[in-house]
Amino acid sequence: MPRILLVEDETAIADTVVYALRAEGYDVGHCGTAGDALREAAGGGFDLAILDVGLPDIGGFALCRELRARHDLPVIFLTAHGAEADRVLGFELGADDYVAKPFSPRELAARVRALLRRVAQAAPAQAAHGFEHDAEGRRIRLRGQLLDLTRYEYGLLAALLARPGAVLTRAQLMDRVWGDAPDTGDRTVDTHIKTLRAKLHAAASDIDPIRTHRGIGYSIDAG
Ligand code: CA
Repeated sequence: MPRILLVEDETAIADTVVYALRAEGYDVGHCGTAGDALREAAGGGFDLAILDVGLPDIGGFALCRELRARHDLPVIFLTAHGAEADRVLGFELGADDYVAKPFSPRELAARVRALLRRVAQAAPAQAAHGFEHDAEGRRIRLRGQLLDLTRYEYGLLAALLARPGAVLTRAQLMDRVWGDAPDTGDRTVDTHIKTLRAKLHAAASDIDPIRTHRGIGYSIDAG
């Protein structure tokens, strides 16, 4: 039975979430503060964490950093309605998903289920959609066919393939791929994603594995 760590200081929200997740067969540990959560997590055994961004002590983002430093936990953030900056920051910290308040507990339960499935499937990155990544040779094959990529297209695809299913923000992609060319403009990532998509389409027209997360960034499908 998967164990979920829920950190939420509003009792009414916490109660409905705990109820919905238990109804889905999850074991839920609930904490109202980040301090309690760190003590609870120290015992280990959690499969996923749901963190409210607004907590009374150190806050959800700082808590995420602390948790990630010690445990390999997938994280879903609960953010205030419409707080786009929170979502971007959350993804930069390595959040796997977010749910904006107010949300339906059933929707959250569905996100939990999807994320647990994604984590379970993510294991061999090279296997995603038939990609084979030769990191030393800086070459990527798709279904056996060598992709003719520019240096930056290669960098983008390699960064996405390193974490299938995870959203990488534009800032993260800029950092990883254009780290040595800091003057590149805002649209650079989008432009190169576009040409990369066209090359993937030419090699395998039945798949479109790169997903756009509007206002945030990109991910590559795990399957
Ligand atoms: Ca709160």
